[in-house]
Amino acid sequence: MSAAKNPFAVKNDSFVHVFEVGARDGLQNEKVEISLEQKLMLIAGLKAAGLKHLEVGAFVRADRVPQMADSEEVFRRADLKGVHAWSLVPNRKGLERAIEVGVKNIAIFTAATESFAQRNIRMSIPQSLSEFKEVVAVARKKKILVRGYVSTAFGCPFEGKVAPKKALKVVESLWRLGVEQVSIGDTIGVATPEGIEAVFKPALKMMKKAGTAAHLHDTRGTALANALRAMDLGVRTFDSSAGGLGGCPFAPGATGNLATEDLIYLLNGMGMKTGVNLDRLCEISLKFSRQIAGGLGRPLGSRYLAAYAAKCADIAASGVGESGSVAGESG
Ligand code: MG
Repeated sequence: MSAAKNPFAVKNDSFVHVFEVGARDGLQNEKVEISLEQKLMLIAGLKAAGLKHLEVGAFVRADRVPQMADSEEVFRRADLKGVHAWSLVPNRKGLERAIEVGVKNIAIFTAATESFAQRNIRMSIPQSLSEFKEVVAVARKKKILVRGYVSTAFGCPFEGKVAPKKALKVVESLWRLGVEQVSIGDTIGVATPEGIEAVFKPALKMMKKAGTAAHLHDTRGTALANALRAMDLGVRTFDSSAGGLGGCPFAPGATGNLATEDLIYLLNGMGMKTGVNLDRLCEISLKFSRQIAGGLGRPLGSRYLAAYAAKCADIAASGVGESGSVAGESG
């Protein structure tokens, strides 16, 4: 692993890397059909808002994850210059597909619990690690950056609460494969700040700031509190999705990923830098959600976005925005 090229390096402690998962993790869990054009629009908008890490596809089986069936087309057609465009790769076959379309950044994924791993990737945890060992070896030769995900690190829909030690064991195994970063996931949104500390404190010690990421879900309203604790501990990469897109297939009606808008609002308020323009991000999230035929069947999860949309509607209704004096106010 070459530290110099790690795109998650922490050169300035007040900068936070925001890893935007909306166009993959977000869309994958939405029921409505989303066209290639709509995806390309979303990706272009996220890039224009200043996001530098975009997860945009998954080279998984189309029959199992139909929403990602056009990942090759996304990579062929999206303008991904100037950003790190990431895609999920479940095995060597997925890696071959990724290489074919010139993917430079991949994510491999396993879980802290056996039942979730079996259900999600149809491999045991040890099987997944031995498969990924070969994936990482090939990726290294091709100079492809690799990120690892550990799902269900705090709780599992099948096994309940997960002990920090158990989660950290899988995190360490994945890290030892030589990945750039491991993203530790609260897949079903059950973590609270105390649990965050129990996992991230040792994780940071092992992988340092550049190697550690938090993937939080807001299912029980604790995502921002957890993000804050993780940030205080030293985490400088957070996964989030525009508008809070996504859900959990095992928790019907559950809200999705930590919303990027909510995260950026918090970080801005604390004087942290992200390089993301919050207004532009809100505009693309609203535009995207309005363009999906039939809608998402529920409002987007982002609280900040809801407030932003209400403010814009107020301005439009009052007509003040036409002069430009109020519309220019930042949210
Ligand atoms: Mg997620």
